[in-house]
Amino acid sequence: MDKKIVIVGAGVAGINAATKLVDNGYPGELITIIDMGKDPYNRLPEEVMTGMLGAGGWSDGKLTYHTAIGGVLSKYTGEEKAMELMDQVITNFKRFHPKPEEVQCSNPESEPEFIKPYFGLRLFPVWHVGTDYLSEIAKNWYDYLVSKNVKFEWGAKVYAIDFKNNIVKFKNQTHPELQANIQYDELIFAVGKSGIDFAQQLANEYELPDEPKSVQIGVRFEAPQEHFQKLIDISYDFKLYRKFDDKGVSLRSFCTNNNAAFVAVEETYGDVSYNGHAKKDPKYLNGMTNFGILMEIKGIDNPFEWCREAVKKVQIDGTGTYYSPSRKPSLTSEGTDVSSIQVEDLMYLYDSLGEYAQYIVDFIEDMKKVFPTLKDDWGIYMPEVKYLSPEPLVNYEDLSLTKYPNVHFVGDALSARGITVSGAHGVYVAESFLK
Ligand SMILES: Cc1cc2nc3c(=O)[nH]c(=O)nc-3n(C[C@H](O)[C@H](O)[C@H](O)COP(=O)(O)OP(=O)(O)OC[C@H]3O[C@@H](n4cnc5c(N)ncnc54)[C@H](O)[C@@H]3O)c2cc1C
Repeated sequence: MDKKIVIVGAGVAGINAATKLVDNGYPGELITIIDMGKDPYNRLPEEVMTGMLGAGGWSDGKLTYHTAIGGVLSKYTGEEKAMELMDQVITNFKRFHPKPEEVQCSNPESEPEFIKPYFGLRLFPVWHVGTDYLSEIAKNWYDYLVSKNVKFEWGAKVYAIDFKNNIVKFKNQTHPELQANIQYDELIFAVGKSGIDFAQQLANEYELPDEPKSVQIGVRFEAPQEHFQKLIDISYDFKLYRKFDDKGVSLRSFCTNNNAAFVAVEETYGDVSYNGHAKKDPKYLNGMTNFGILMEIKGIDNPFEWCREAVKKVQIDGTGTYYSPSRKPSLTSEGTDVSSIQVEDLMYLYDSLGEYAQYIVDFIEDMKKVFPTLKDDWGIYMPEVKYLSPEPLVNYEDLSLTKYPNVHFVGDALSARGITVSGAHGVYVAESFLK
């Protein structure tokens, strides 16, 4: 237990890894966590993607509890182990929660008849932590790791990693002339979506082999909650889905937010994409629902470039677009307009996605049949995109690169798409060190 461990990224995956280690007696002095964002006492609400707990720090705090949701986990670990790892992550969130008794699990059981003619409904348990509590959770969690002597470098952007000589190079975000190097024995690469371009840079530089990926793109749909209430009563974070296997296309509703639900802008590669989050405090109640309508398209050559091109086409001068037959864009939880340009028709969507746009339009049309009061009372923010980082080939027993066995990719930087799976990756790698 004397290896020097460097973790790049203080997000969900990195923090869960460090916690597993120190919980099991690993000396905190041997663990350094580097993050380009801020510690939880200084992180601002608009810093959505960076800092303590990463994108999970200002997320909707919904901890999904099923191996079919949130990215790839059981492929590496097997089903049973995957569930056990997710349990550990959920326990950590409760452990540092100021009011753990408020963390509730919704566990819907049967698929309602009225959905069936048009959609499938994927049902799975979700633990609700609440966005409002995440900041306090982050502080409690951080204090614990500091008390265990884990070292943190904040505002420090890693710009290069020498996999051959085990060196991480980073510079101060505000004073880039301040640079430093750190040596590692084991490296956990946990940069999340905000580090996707850096992950790509490393993949190119080291010619890392990867698994083929699909395109994941769509829109963020928003409407008054009343239209969806009969489904929300069954499943808070409902997942409507449909598949067109012969076309390599599937669609699903993604990350539903209700009650005090806000559309949020997120940035990847400097491109604007939409997402959503919900507040727990009753003062934020706005009676809205939002969710992504995400389309997965298989078999596109160079899916990453295709996606980026599609994102550019649906925007106007780098700002996302909004279309509604009757509504205006909503306000953010801070009371400002959701950044978007309202457009009069779906031309941008068709221009961006070509024939694939029709699948999204059909999805909305069929929702109007299933939820008859919906009619034209909805809007879409375009685009919502999930850049699936190229999934490097890893050894399944410790998520290490096949070419560099002391470098472990975890979280969204590997193949996760959510908090529980990202955290589980981190715990899994930590367990491999403890062995
Ligand atoms: C608005 C929003 C709402 C969401 N809601 C949910 C939800 O309710 N449920 C759910 O399961 N998932 C949700 N997600 C997704 C979830 O937050 C992510 O899947 C999860 O945080 C990924 O964990 P990670 O550790 O891989 O990366 P992250 O949590 O993103 O952490 C990565 C960290 O790496 C740091 N970093 C990146 N590049 C560098 C670099 N070069 N140098 C130094 N540091 C770097 C970043 O600052 C960041 O802190 C949401 C995401 C967003 C944006």
